[in-house]
Amino acid sequence: ESEFTGWEDGSAEDDGFDQGGPAPTLAVVGRPNVGKSTLVNRLIGRREAVVQDVPGVTRDRVSHDALWRGRRFTVVDTGGWDPMASGLQAEVTAQAERAMQTSDAVLVVVDASVGATETEDAIAKVLRRSKRPVILAVNKVDDERAEADAAALWSLGLGEPIAVSGLHGRGSGDLLDAVLEALPTAPEEFVGSGGGPRRVALIGRPNVGKSSLLNKLTGESRSVVHAVAGTTVDPVDSLVEIDGQLWRFVDTAGLRRRVNQAKGMEYYASLRTQTALESAEVAIALIDSSTPITEQDQRVISMVIDSGRALVIALNKADLVDADRRAEVEDEVLRDLARVAWAQRINISAQSGRGVHRLAPAMTRALESWDRRIPTGRLNSWLGELIAATPPPVRGGKQPRVLFATQASNRPPTFVLFTTGFLEAGYRRFIERRLREDFEFTGSPVRVNVRVRE
Ligand code: GDP
Ligand code: GDP
Repeated sequence: ESEFTGWEDGSAEDDGFDQGGPAPTLAVVGRPNVGKSTLVNRLIGRREAVVQDVPGVTRDRVSHDALWRGRRFTVVDTGGWDPMASGLQAEVTAQAERAMQTSDAVLVVVDASVGATETEDAIAKVLRRSKRPVILAVNKVDDERAEADAAALWSLGLGEPIAVSGLHGRGSGDLLDAVLEALPTAPEEFVGSGGGPRRVALIGRPNVGKSSLLNKLTGESRSVVHAVAGTTVDPVDSLVEIDGQLWRFVDTAGLRRRVNQAKGMEYYASLRTQTALESAEVAIALIDSSTPITEQDQRVISMVIDSGRALVIALNKADLVDADRRAEVEDEVLRDLARVAWAQRINISAQSGRGVHRLAPAMTRALESWDRRIPTGRLNSWLGELIAATPPPVRGGKQPRVLFATQASNRPPTFVLFTTGFLEAGYRRFIERRLREDFEFTGSPVRVNVRVRE
């Protein structure tokens, strides 16, 4: 019994688990040659060169994934240099504005050997107005002598200057700690209830009725916005109000933009599905229930499973389904959708609107499961009982013991079991199933990882 409470390592979050959902973003700004790229490479823990700035050439912003102390974040290297066009200072100021609007925190890089120029003053002025947290890195502090140069930059009014050397790595741990402190644990609009509309991907193979459903939903909504100017809302999304609640349907531009070439159509469809899933929290997977479930439907479902997003299945074209077909649909669903038996299934007709009102409550339910965190104490007392009643099967004469469990992350709920030996797949599935049933994770995938402790 004591095994379930005695070991408090808590290190499960420290080794790069996917924490679900988009990571918060850090934008890097500064004049050319202050060492932004060098520092970005440090932040992302890689040596290879990030795209070099080519004077006079406008490039897109480059983003990189970073992981520090078990937390994921995205580093966005603000590019788009064209100093000839509008003057360096204007360009850098515009860059700072952009960084402020599109990221969760801004990292300003200054060259210690040069100090604050007019351009830094201009950047500071923009950033001091911003609500975004700002981290000030003073780069090229290769040795102690240069520390004084760094301290001089308190004058920018951006808080404590952090002395670093992108080249040698000096101070990069402190800088990363400061970055983590500045970043929200989840991006603002991702906070869920009250934190902005939740994101929905409308997916399914061509002709299942995605556009029809979107039309139906937007037709009945009193508030539909396709692009919200001046905010970070991506113009390819639609904001739709359903029963007084706002939802963000992502990548609906891709839905409206019909791809008509027969060739490559499936390729584009699956690309859109992928993109939509990446930016969504919950997916409505449409299936045409008037015809048998196809391989392409299965591929869409597989993509949802891989994405780890919450899921609601909409069996569309219910108006074309008669009593005989109804029985067939039930068989097909049991057989072909067994992998996602945890998702709610809703019969709808996008054309007549029948059943469509049941989608929002199902999404809400699925997202509740997707967001849920089980306290470690409760999880382990549950696990203790489960294992006492049904111990893991003996393998090679040895009984593996499950020492401890923790929920490493949510969105989707991801659990880690620490054991003294290998757990058979069947037993892992048993634990996963019981977790799902006992804690009612309806509509969300649940992941269970096993760590064998030597
Ligand atoms: P960016 O234009 O701001 O992205 O700057 P880069 O990362 O391309 O760096 C510009 C120059 O500064 C390169 O020659 C780097 O090698 C050099 N540099 C970058 N970081 C440091 C540093 O910490 N110390 C020194 N001495 N040089 C650095
Ligand atoms: P998408 O390719 O998934 O966006 O599918 P569409 O919305 O374009 O629909 C494909 C076809 O199915 C169109 O001819 C629609 O009118 C039809 N359709 C969509 N939903 C329904 C439905 O609920 N009932 C019926 N009978 N037809 C539907």
